[in-house]
Amino acid sequence: MRVLLVGGGGREHALALGLAADPAVSAVVAAPGNPGIASVAELRQVAATDPAAVAALAVETGADLVVIGPEAPLVAGVADAVRAKGIAVFGPSAEAARLEGSKAFAKDVMTAANVPTARAYVCADEAGTARALDEFGAPYVVKDDGLAAGKGVVVTDDRSAALAHAAECGRVVVEEFLDGPEVSLFVVTDGEAALPLLPAQDFKRIGDGDTGPNTGGMGAYAPLPWAPPGLVDEVMRDVVHPTLAELRRRGAPFAGLLYVGLAMTAAGPRVIEFNARFGDPETQVVLALLETPLGGLLHAAATGTLAEHPPLRWRDGAAVTVVLAAQGYPAAPRTGDVITGADRDGIIHAGTALRAEDGALLSAGGRVLCGTATGADLATARDAAYALVDGVELAGSQHRTDIAAAAVEGRITIPGQGASQP
Ligand code: AMP
Repeated sequence: MRVLLVGGGGREHALALGLAADPAVSAVVAAPGNPGIASVAELRQVAATDPAAVAALAVETGADLVVIGPEAPLVAGVADAVRAKGIAVFGPSAEAARLEGSKAFAKDVMTAANVPTARAYVCADEAGTARALDEFGAPYVVKDDGLAAGKGVVVTDDRSAALAHAAECGRVVVEEFLDGPEVSLFVVTDGEAALPLLPAQDFKRIGDGDTGPNTGGMGAYAPLPWAPPGLVDEVMRDVVHPTLAELRRRGAPFAGLLYVGLAMTAAGPRVIEFNARFGDPETQVVLALLETPLGGLLHAAATGTLAEHPPLRWRDGAAVTVVLAAQGYPAAPRTGDVITGADRDGIIHAGTALRAEDGALLSAGGRVLCGTATGADLATARDAAYALVDGVELAGSQHRTDIAAAAVEGRITIPGQGASQP
């Protein structure tokens, strides 16, 4: 099977490693890819959000399967254009990807499907926003309705900051604050059958102790030692299957990766958001633990045969990834600095490039790379991931020092329940 992988970040590097390790995959072409992906794939240039261009590349490269990493091509209809060429594609249609592309659409689907989530109002003017803020009270949660690369959400106690964010965005969703630790659950689906991957946790804020602005994600770990038994079954029953059924009913079946972002509240799991693709950096840890060949799994989802796919197999132990970000990220990342020490197993490239003159590795994005490691337990995996990141030199770089620390130390609590055991 020949695979075309669209995208060029850390998620795609992890996907490329998984695909290349599948004996059924004969070749991986990545567009645009990155210098890390280049070690396991042929790189091609493409305008990733241009449906016709990606479809033409899929034909030209003889792809049997196209895997679309990021959300923007999905929302732009790239999966539809590839499917129209008769090529299997892992990624939802533009219509179904609205689950991520519009927070208002996602809320509408959840309401219709009776999915547990935060109460919310869609607001298009200041008076409406102010009314919604006052009804829910602080902390205020204001979300840009459109795609914002994980950075369109403001959670604040400052009412005027909440109003200012809404004014900047135009149409927003204002919702009640959900209190509790977060879980990311990835579900591979062909629109009807659905297989959950291991639950993971990511770290959205730039600073230790969840301080500072939101980012694309600063680290992740899996599995979650503190998750209640039965959590995945409950989410499949109450969230995933009702949502898939509602989308089928609307004539927009969702085939691809349904990412369920949850808050574990005192009242039970509540959906914070849906995404229409693998999350970054949770993909790095979840795929590090997946033993089932990735290409076959994604191909089954892309061809409507997931019901016949064997149960997933997982490696024992745990995985941790720590993101190394550029100076100034997320506001104004500095790029073009030389990176050394990155040439090791477990270093996943996110925002890197090669210098034309001498092939030196340079930073080329906000999140530059991540150190991903597995271990017999979470503490071992965490130490190994930090050892990887500590071995990399990049002037002015920053990383969190507390990825997976609370889970290792048994300090994560679900409101209304006792502390987890270390
Ligand atoms: P989203 O882009 O919707 O995932 O939001 C980004 C982050 O904002 C989430 O991972 C949460 O940490 C936070 N967030 C979003 N919605 C809520 C909410 N209703 N209550 C509390 N935190 C939220």
